[in-house]
Amino acid sequence: MSRYWSAVVHGLTPYVPGEQPKLADLVKLNTNENPYGPSPKVLEAVRAEAADTLRLYPDPNSDRLRAGIAAYHGVTPEAVFVGNGSDEVLAHTFMALLKHDRPLLFPDITYSFYPVYCGLYGIDCRTVPLTGTFEIRVEDYRVPNGGIIFPNPNAPTGRLLGLDAIERLLAGNPGSVVAVDEAYIDFGGASAIPLTARHPNLLVIRTLSKSHALAGLRVGYAVGQPALIEALNRVKDSFNSYPLDRFAQAGALASIEDSAYFESLCARVVATRARMVDAMIRLGFEVLPSAANFVFARHPAHDGAELAAALRERHIIVRHFRSPARIAPFLRITVGTDGQCDALVDALTALC
Ligand SMILES: *Cc1c(COP(=O)(O)O)cnc(C)c1O
Repeated sequence: MSRYWSAVVHGLTPYVPGEQPKLADLVKLNTNENPYGPSPKVLEAVRAEAADTLRLYPDPNSDRLRAGIAAYHGVTPEAVFVGNGSDEVLAHTFMALLKHDRPLLFPDITYSFYPVYCGLYGIDCRTVPLTGTFEIRVEDYRVPNGGIIFPNPNAPTGRLLGLDAIERLLAGNPGSVVAVDEAYIDFGGASAIPLTARHPNLLVIRTLSKSHALAGLRVGYAVGQPALIEALNRVKDSFNSYPLDRFAQAGALASIEDSAYFESLCARVVATRARMVDAMIRLGFEVLPSAANFVFARHPAHDGAELAAALRERHIIVRHFRSPARIAPFLRITVGTDGQCDALVDALTALC
């Protein structure tokens, strides 16, 4: 605490990201990174940017990248907004589209950055409980609200909401923006992006951090009708004109264009997830159905925090959330390579 801090800073409760340990030889299954590297074409594109042109500012609007994303999704470039990681796209969304007199709604168990943005921007919010089986019930969102946001699949549960339910949610809330955070959609769900053509209140947010194996490049984007995108641009141009540097713009475009590569990465992760879930169920775990690159599981005979600590002693890092109390028994475990998955299952076999 310092007397030099603004009142806003005194009131902040910042997000705590999963740790990035400096130790080598760890099985790191705590932050949902891709266990495989990005496309060789990404590396080539990034290397080509290491040139004299770095003295010049990058394209402030990332036009080539936005055109590539638009072509990939079959929308117009005016329907695409890009940012420095989807966390930045989310932050601008909270400010531009979700801050209203009525409260913003999101699930009680969800990405814990959402309440942090509410604190930063002074947004009134309410949580809506997931069902007993950790599902979003869209009928529970039929209350006066200033916006709705949730990840699909949800984090940290991994549970997927179908497009039919999302359409019911959109139809039931025509007066507010529904933001769907599709950070994990490539690992097993149908994207809501095609619905943006019919629904002016739908914004879909994506990241290249997980399925494209580019967490280190920091690129995220949003797709929605141009009026929503214009709101995001107004915030962006009041904050940072050049959110994506030259490396990020070139590398992200190369990754989007090499769809065969990233689809093969997703297929490998999905295959390992199936093996991992089977093995954990055999060990007595209750594993929620996952459409993501992580699983959310608990063992009836073991405490979540103790299990996480015991795995850590064996150099395996997973994520444990102390609150809300309902998820304290669970571990969120990223799907790694087959070898990492075997190491995890061996350790759990010894512990359970
Ligand atoms: C990882 C994650 C993000 C953030 O992704 P970045 O693009 O790396 O900032 C956003 N939403 C959810 C639900 C995530 O899990």
